[in-house]
Amino acid sequence: AAKRLEGKTIVITGASSGIGRSTALEFARTAPNNKLKLVLTARRIEVLHEVAAEIRKEVGEGVEVLPVQLDVSSPDAVRGFIPGLPEAFRDINVLVNNAGLVKGVAQAPSIAEEDINIMFQTNVTGLINMTQAVLPIFKARPDGGAGDIINIGSIAGREPYAGGSIYCATKAAVRSFTDSLRKELVATRIRVIGVDPGQVETEFSVVRFYGDKAKADAVYAGCEPLTPDDIAEVIVFAATRRENVVVADTLVYPSHQA
Ligand code: NDP
Repeated sequence: AAKRLEGKTIVITGASSGIGRSTALEFARTAPNNKLKLVLTARRIEVLHEVAAEIRKEVGEGVEVLPVQLDVSSPDAVRGFIPGLPEAFRDINVLVNNAGLVKGVAQAPSIAEEDINIMFQTNVTGLINMTQAVLPIFKARPDGGAGDIINIGSIAGREPYAGGSIYCATKAAVRSFTDSLRKELVATRIRVIGVDPGQVETEFSVVRFYGDKAKADAVYAGCEPLTPDDIAEVIVFAATRRENVVVADTLVYPSHQA
């Protein structure tokens, strides 16, 4: 199955930490002879360079890694993304729409407008704009087109919780968008894949509580969250199936959460 990655170009948003970083490493490890082009994107370019160095250190120089600064919440930045890539990296085969954030836990009436906007602009509009950016490349391929769009949603999009109304709404929107797009592209070889993680311990876990690590840790009291690698393995699994196999909709829990 890993052979199916050979020579592909993979774009990952939010590759500077957590699930995105692990996914980059997992793709690099999985590709035979590490023949793979990886475009790592996020806002923190200096951290992307560290991730790129980490990948090269672990798997060698075979994999071509390109760190690119990209704020997916900016439509202009997303519009300029593909034209700004070196030509050798523009023939994208896989887009992992992973960039996402949560701003605090608060009751709906007290959520700041700024926080509402940034969550929707990043988690929803950013993901849609990135998808629109790669689709012309995918559609130019034979038989209606080919390529993988892998959207990272969340259990929060299926099981809303008190204090998370906006974040949950963004992730429900990701799920609806993913399912609609899959139906629109049904006659093509373009696969639209949804991966919805349960609790995963990442930077995200602390940011959610405005940096209060004690509160963040309390969420996991008595239970073991997933690691970012657990989700990365599922993403790479989906991308390495036979072309006729779409891992359409996957919910990944730690066992205590199921
Ligand atoms: P992290 O906070 O570790 O990583 C989030 C990544 O998104 C970072 O690389 C960050 O990079 C990037 N990012 C945030 N905003 C933007 C932006 N505007 N433009 C580009 N990149 C951005 O969190 P996770 O790895 O946990 O989160 C990854 C995805 O998984 C998210 O979509 C999240 O909603 C989802 N998820 C996480 C769960 C969890 O429990 N951790 C559970 C379910 C889903 P930078 O700051 O450099 O831009």
